[in-house]
Amino acid sequence: MAEELEVIDRAEEWSGFLKKKYKSALNKISREYPSTRSLEIEYDVLEKYGKTGIILADDLLEHPGKTLGDIKDAIRSANLVSGKDIEGCDITEDIIKGINIRFVHLPRKTSIRDIRSEHINKFISVDGIVRRVTEVRPRLVIGAFRCANGHITRKVQDYGTYSEPDMCGNAECTQKKLELVQSLSTFIDSQKLRIQETPEGLRGGEQPQTIDIDCVDDICGVVAPGDRIIINGILRSVQRIQNGQKSTVFDLYIECNSIEISIKEFEEVDISEEDEKVIKELATDPAIYGKIARSIAPTIYGNDDVKEAIALQLFGGIAKEMPDGSGLRGDIHVLLVGDPGIAKSQLLRYVIKLAPRGVYTSGKSASSAGLTAAAVKDDMEGGRWTLEAGALVLADKGIAAVDEMDKMQKEDRSSLHEAMEQQSISVAKAGINATLRTRCSLLGAANPKLGRFDEYVNISEQINMPPSLLSRFDLIFIMKDQPDETRDLNIANHILRAHSAGEEIMRHRKYPIPGADDAYFKEKLKPVSAEIDAVMLRKYLAYAKRTCFPIITKEAENALISYYKKLRSVAYESSDKPVPVTARSLEALVRLGEASARVRLADEITMEDAARVIKIVDTCLRQVAYDPKSGSLDIDKIASSTTKAGRTLRRDLKKAVEALADSDGRTGLDALYQHLEKQNYTKEEIERMIEQMRLSGEILLPKNNTIKLL
Ligand code: ADP
Ligand code: MG
Repeated sequence: MAEELEVIDRAEEWSGFLKKKYKSALNKISREYPSTRSLEIEYDVLEKYGKTGIILADDLLEHPGKTLGDIKDAIRSANLVSGKDIEGCDITEDIIKGINIRFVHLPRKTSIRDIRSEHINKFISVDGIVRRVTEVRPRLVIGAFRCANGHITRKVQDYGTYSEPDMCGNAECTQKKLELVQSLSTFIDSQKLRIQETPEGLRGGEQPQTIDIDCVDDICGVVAPGDRIIINGILRSVQRIQNGQKSTVFDLYIECNSIEISIKEFEEVDISEEDEKVIKELATDPAIYGKIARSIAPTIYGNDDVKEAIALQLFGGIAKEMPDGSGLRGDIHVLLVGDPGIAKSQLLRYVIKLAPRGVYTSGKSASSAGLTAAAVKDDMEGGRWTLEAGALVLADKGIAAVDEMDKMQKEDRSSLHEAMEQQSISVAKAGINATLRTRCSLLGAANPKLGRFDEYVNISEQINMPPSLLSRFDLIFIMKDQPDETRDLNIANHILRAHSAGEEIMRHRKYPIPGADDAYFKEKLKPVSAEIDAVMLRKYLAYAKRTCFPIITKEAENALISYYKKLRSVAYESSDKPVPVTARSLEALVRLGEASARVRLADEITMEDAARVIKIVDTCLRQVAYDPKSGSLDIDKIASSTTKAGRTLRRDLKKAVEALADSDGRTGLDALYQHLEKQNYTKEEIERMIEQMRLSGEILLPKNNTIKLL
């Protein structure tokens, strides 16, 4: 603080600058006050204002508190504003007091994780994504306190703490008990924000850091969670209070001077002319699909179909805005269901590193906002309502990887429906009404409830997700961990290759291995490295999204429609239930087709694309809906609570137990097996079903090889 006092008064220079560059903006404020009461100054304009400009700009950064005061003095002394209210009374002094000087477009940014104590009381510019916002509420800035004798004492309030005067300010009065008089006090609108580092600014897997922002007056209520913004303001510190005691630790926050909402999208990725050449070259390679798929998580062996699907997801379909204002989503949602230890989590983490805007979270994450958004009462903010963004909001225009989706909270399950299809989420609670955008693609992973995937039980039940939610995924993969000698050996070799190359590299760093150079390691790492490296692939993705908008050809359209019709008819034949293959499945086909064309940077979605996506969708549906009992595609399996074959077995089993029961209601197991095997069920199936029904509490297995219905 003492430092600031040594600074020379610059009011003169400021008034010169304002007169020259901002007179008309100030005149506008004079005319329109209080609806217009902020003067926005471009930092650039200031810095280019000759030698004085450089000095003033420097002053602003180094001594912002003093500088903002100087500017007000300059406005007052040079009569830069003036005004009258409707009754003709002079309100010039009110305008000067009420005017906000805001600086925008600073050239240098400080990243949230680099904020240090040296920045305290300095003017800084940080960018980030809005994580949470509080309600806009009035805050006391100057309290008017009345004593029993009716004298009024005013006291300026510090940020965060309410303080009363020790005694009445009137010289003759000795009253110590004072009361706040609201009508004579001054309030200002206030709002607190919390911003966090943007996903693209993080090196893979890092946890984003946050900082709180204090906004007052007309910049309150202008941002929503999920917005990408730049905050310009003064870094302040407040003493932390723990259990009512002042601590030696100080918390940091930014006293917000101005907010810039950035409209930049993925365009952040820089693509040079050279890059463009490489990308176009790659796009003409007939083997490009495999190349890209293998470049996703190269340390993970196999899973080519999953990787190809993820590649299409990264390229994405085309989001459409219709003239009537409605929209069709282009984002592709993919769900991986499978046994533990099959590299689902690894895949997710890799994709996040690859995607230009990726957010990783777990379904059971501790954040109160969960996956979408929530209005929560914040203890830290004195019980203020705050709106907090969850993963899908933070991943807007990117990709959200949600691991362990089977363990997500109930509220998330219901809000995901809206978030995935409408790509927005509305929150209406307490004073908060907001619609947040979730235009992201979702890559989910789920472990089956009983540890292993059981093909006889439908997935909805196994991963604890309602069919309606499952139907929002364009593709669902079942990844099974089945022992298979060659495959196991290949995985083992692959894993060991990665590890042994890694070991040599670590050894080489400490004790150089003779003859080992870059080329040697490159060769060594070849089997576990990407054919297209992550940096290039990211550029490729951004380039395709930016420039490629393919249109579907008639043949491809017909192919997709006829496949869809076939799916529908299978579903009709094999089921007495409502058909879960809906128009949504057709939309999924179209989106995947668009993505497939984008990979080639093609103008048209051709038969080739249609065939590719039909193959992928078919593989998925077969895994998800294939009924091992009847040997047919049982689309019903996705939607209803049991497979068709499973349903009949359950029913037949119950019937048989009832029919064969003795007077105690017990049935001998041997007789039961015989009875059911006659109905063409295998012993294995029956055993499995009995185990299932026992687990779900439908039957009891008392001693003596008997079974009893509950
Ligand atoms: P999940 O999330 O499916 O339970 P993880 O992603 O945690 O499984 O993977 C467990 C470990 O097994 C990881 O270290 C992973 O690298 C390894 N692993 C599993 N399958 C493969 C594979 N196909 N190729 C290479 N590594 C694998
Ligand atoms: Mg996992």
